Amino acid sequence: MLLLACCINSGDKPTISISPGKELCARHRIPLVAVNGFQYREPWPIIDPTVAFGRVLHKYPNSINVYHSLHRSDTYPKATKITYCPKCQDEVERWLARH
Ligand SMILES: [Zn+2]
Repeated sequence: MLLLACCINSGDKPTISISPGKELCARHRIPLVAVNGFQYREPWPIIDPTVAFGRVLHKYPNSINVYHSLHRSDTYPKATKITYCPKCQDEVERWLARH
């Protein structure tokens, strides 16, 4: 019998901790990736997604949030680390491409 020591983290980004500093997406059970990215210029505005987009973000909770981007721009000028689930991000991008 194999026992894995882990715990499920809840909140905005539900993850499963499998070792210090290593987390899995609670939905897809794959490791989150940490990459160099960029954050929204400050002060951060309140961004209220549509109901439909809110449902997508809830369904794929470990996607890149709206205050971060993989690409530098006038809107996202400040370098930062971004941690996300590639499968959640793919699903969100696929939804955005259709709407
Ligand atoms: Zn995921």
